[in-house]
Amino acid sequence: MEPIAVSVARPHALSLISGSRPDPGPGEVKLRVRRAGICGSDMHILHGSNPFARYPRIIGHEFAGEITAIGEGVSALAIGDHVVADPVVSCGHCYPCRRGRPNVCATLEVIGVHRDGGFSSEAILPAKNAVKVSRDLSFAVAALAEPLSVAANVLTATGCDAEDTVLVYGAGTVGVTVLQVARLKGARCIVVDIDEARLERAKEFGADHTIHSPSRSVPEAVKAEMDGLGPSVVIDGAGIPALLEEACRVASPAGRIGLLGFSPAPCNVSQQDIVRKELSLFGSRLNRRLIPEVVSWLESGRLDPAAMITQTFAARDARAAFDFVETHPDRLLKVQLAFDE
Ligand SMILES: [Zn+2]
Ligand SMILES: [Zn+2]
Repeated sequence: MEPIAVSVARPHALSLISGSRPDPGPGEVKLRVRRAGICGSDMHILHGSNPFARYPRIIGHEFAGEITAIGEGVSALAIGDHVVADPVVSCGHCYPCRRGRPNVCATLEVIGVHRDGGFSSEAILPAKNAVKVSRDLSFAVAALAEPLSVAANVLTATGCDAEDTVLVYGAGTVGVTVLQVARLKGARCIVVDIDEARLERAKEFGADHTIHSPSRSVPEAVKAEMDGLGPSVVIDGAGIPALLEEACRVASPAGRIGLLGFSPAPCNVSQQDIVRKELSLFGSRLNRRLIPEVVSWLESGRLDPAAMITQTFAARDARAAFDFVETHPDRLLKVQLAFDE
C-alpha cells in the first residue's frame, strides 16, 4: 500500500498526501510508523495558533513504529527494532543543553512542529530521538510515552514523591497523565475539574480525591491536606492563567507549582504568598530526555495507561479523526491514528 501522510499546508488546510519519504541521512533512522496520537498542539498547528509551527508540515509528535532503514553511523539501533519517538531535537552544547535541559535548547526543534513528524506511514528522525521499546509493548501504548513524558517532566521539575500531596487542575488528557505519574511516584493525588464525568474518569485512573470546582471552593476543599498546610505540589494541567493565583494561595509552605499552559495572557499574582511560603514556580515544556524512564514504567507494567486510548481511526480517515477531536473534546482522552494496514 502506498505510504500516506497527514500534512497541514497552511492553517486550516489538512490534507492526506502520498508518496515515500527519502532514505535516512547520516545519524538518522527511518520508521514504519504504526500508531500516532493526536495532541492538542496538533490542533493548534491546524488552526494556526501554534507560534512555532512552520508550514507546510507533516504533523504528529506522539508516534511509535519499527525501524526499516538506518543511516550512516547509527550503531545503537537496528532494522526491525520497535521504537517510540522523542520529539525534542536539541543541539547538545548550548547552555540549557549543558544543564540537562535539551527541551529548552537555544535552537530547539520539535518533530512534527519545526520539522516533519509522525502522522505518516514513514518517518525520518535522528537516531538519538528513537527510543527502543520491548517487542512485548503494543505500539499503541508505546505511542503514549510522549504525552506521559510531559507529565514526568513537570513532576521531575517540581520534585514529587510519596511525601507529597499533588493537586492537579484539569482532568483532561494532561491532568490524567499527571495523575498517573504522581500516583506511580507514590504521591496522594487530588484532581479538580468543572466536569463531573471527567472527575469520575480521574477516579478510575487512581485519583485519591476529586473536587468539582463549580460546586465547591478549591481552597476550602484542600486546606486540611498535609496536616492543614495544603497540597505540596500544584500542577496546572488546564492551562488557565488565573489558576496560578489560586495555586499560590493553596500551596503549602515549601510548595512547588508546575505550569504547562502556553497562554500569553498575564495573571494577577502577588509576591507575598510566593515569598512568605518560599514557593517555587516551574515552567515545564515537553520533556528532558525522560522517555526512556517512561518506557521502563510501561514495560514493567508499573504504568498501565492503555485505557487513555479512547478512539482509534485508520490513518486514511485522519480528517474524520480531527473532526471528532474538534467536536467531541468531552468524549475522548487520546485519539490515535493507526497506520497498521
Ligand atoms: Zn503532545
Ligand atoms: Zn542546545
